[in-house]
Amino acid sequence: MVAVMSGVKLSGIGMTSQRTRARMLDRLRQQGVRDEEVLSVVGGIPRHIFVDEALSSRAYEDTALPIGYGQTISNPYTVARMTEILFAAGKLKKVLEIGTGCGYQTAVLAKLAQEVYSVERIAPLLVKARKNLQELRIGNVRLKHTDGGMGLPEVAPFDAIIMTAAATHVPQELLRQLVVGGRMVMPIGGQEQRLVLIEHAGQEYRETTLETVKFVPLLSGVE
Ligand code: SAH
Repeated sequence: MVAVMSGVKLSGIGMTSQRTRARMLDRLRQQGVRDEEVLSVVGGIPRHIFVDEALSSRAYEDTALPIGYGQTISNPYTVARMTEILFAAGKLKKVLEIGTGCGYQTAVLAKLAQEVYSVERIAPLLVKARKNLQELRIGNVRLKHTDGGMGLPEVAPFDAIIMTAAATHVPQELLRQLVVGGRMVMPIGGQEQRLVLIEHAGQEYRETTLETVKFVPLLSGVE
């Protein structure tokens, strides 16, 4: 029964979603996303299954949408842009995502990296994410219910870390979990946030500010 229902959900928007998704990709290109591999992955993932059915018709708009528990699914531009930055130096084997939410960014990462670890502090969101990733038959992801502010030391080091909630500063512990040559992308700030790229260059960490962004805050503890 569940399988049949999810089948309906996957195909429910039907062929119109092909056109809607093509329009989304055109928009992402206009907004400056250049990596065709990332664009093809973003275009191939049905974003509508990650949101409540009542919001499905808005799933391919360039907007963050509520996913419950005061959290949001990131907008397609932000997901595509952060992914492009993360993969700009080449292929990645092991990636950590902090802030799984409903698993949309996780799904994009899973199509491009060998192994993805993603952590989320709100347990029911992790349940949603697990269901969504299973529906897409994505198997190279390990999800964990934990406060990701300190990363995932038991699995570190990572080739790349992506944080999808805004921190007030760069957590030093996360830098220690990057391999030399590794990359971390994260939003920093409160009301006003900037997206930063930090590269582990051996002796030093190089920080580059990329653009302004708007994310929910990184919170501590678990719910
Ligand atoms: N990656 C998601 C974005 C979800 S919003 C997407 O693709 O849409 C950010 C998520 O970060 C929220 O679900 C929030 O609960 C989670 N979060 C905030 N602080 C956290 C922390 N310290 N550890 C783990 N997850 C956290």
